[in-house]
Amino acid sequence: MEKFSTSGPIKEKNGVFITTYGCQMNVNDTERMFSLLEMSNYTPVTSADQASLIKINSCSVREKPVHKVHSEVGRYRKLKEMNPNLKIGVAGCVAQQEKKRLIADIPLLDFVVGTDAIDQLPELVNKLDREKQVSARFEYQKPYQIETLIRNPGVSTFVNITKGCDNFCTFCVVPFTRGRERSRKAQELIQDIQKLVDRGVKEVTLLGQNVNSYKSECGADFADLLRLVATETNIQRIRYTTSHPKDFNQKLVDIMQEHREKVCEYIHLPVQSGNSQVLDRMNRNYTREEYIQKVKMIERAIPGVVLSTDIIVGFPGETDEQFEDTLSLLDEVSYESIYAFKYSPRPFTKAAQFTDQVDEQIKSERLNRLFAKHDEIARKLCKKYEGQTLEVLVEEVNAEGRAFGRSTQNKVVHFNGTNALVGQTVAVKVIEAFPQTMRGELKN
Ligand code: SF4
Repeated sequence: MEKFSTSGPIKEKNGVFITTYGCQMNVNDTERMFSLLEMSNYTPVTSADQASLIKINSCSVREKPVHKVHSEVGRYRKLKEMNPNLKIGVAGCVAQQEKKRLIADIPLLDFVVGTDAIDQLPELVNKLDREKQVSARFEYQKPYQIETLIRNPGVSTFVNITKGCDNFCTFCVVPFTRGRERSRKAQELIQDIQKLVDRGVKEVTLLGQNVNSYKSECGADFADLLRLVATETNIQRIRYTTSHPKDFNQKLVDIMQEHREKVCEYIHLPVQSGNSQVLDRMNRNYTREEYIQKVKMIERAIPGVVLSTDIIVGFPGETDEQFEDTLSLLDEVSYESIYAFKYSPRPFTKAAQFTDQVDEQIKSERLNRLFAKHDEIARKLCKKYEGQTLEVLVEEVNAEGRAFGRSTQNKVVHFNGTNALVGQTVAVKVIEAFPQTMRGELKN
């Protein structure tokens, strides 16, 4: 998985350095930890040797996650020897799963805080002055009550609406690391988003492992929530991720269409495989045919909708013919982008016990074929944007006057502009389109 380094300017000696691995959820959690620690007199620093507190926000989707935590903590040994007051901690999914083992096995480690205990972080850090090694209590909260904490939200930001997942796809470790699904109250979310709007945010992405199974205490489902955010806040744009095809329904697409001036016409709809037998072994709860039906329903309701997906190749037992079904799905569904991965076993998951694991070389060949095929498709699909004028929300303008923003279809567009445009939605004519980015010019 990707490694993000999250840091900021140095202001004072209580420096905190956090390395973040994994998904958007972890990136969001890191932002929350920075916010909580800033309230406790810590300041983000740009490297570990400037810090008095180092945190590793770990990801168990990575291979050998515990081993990787050991080796990263080991890299800080010298710093700890030079500064015995330096505190080193582990957060994230590995911490949630392996709290006792980490504390017992890594003497250099001062604290462990799991995904369910982030809000106890300031209290935990204070305790460190009195105790050698501490870990936070892992609390199951239902409903999931948090206020979005973001230091500099900028133009576009993420807002967690659910936590955890009940689906138990056989390849996925999330239900074991983030627990059962919990939803935030709709009214709390509305207030949260309006506060972000008041701080200058123009676009929110509602975030959850499976946003479509959102259920507020008042009975509002995800479609209702989308309507509430569109009508009861002044947010300009709404996106959401991630969707589960089994829970994607007509009511949701109808509400997207009804509020199309705010809800972006982009949907990330992970399919994982184009073969129904593989989908069944993955415990995805839909067939290839049902998935295609959902895509047709979406395309009927939202003209011009842009779709992307996740695909796993080489799932245990996947035959050549079953893989061909995934390839042929690309001819049936016009994905403008795909995120594809080779299957690899994850601790606690059912698929890790399957005895018919696919050879690594075969997985690599399949992945290469999939990318090659999609690349060809994406190059053709993107050409339709050339000459079109897109509504671009400007996120940044660099010192050379190069502006960058995203269209409602989630297309990254670069063009010449000035700083005054940041936060504005402007019309940009696309001059040249590539699968990942576009070059355009500002229209008057
Ligand atoms: S829906 Fe499946 S893949 Fe997504 S988080 Fe839940 S268990 Fe994992």
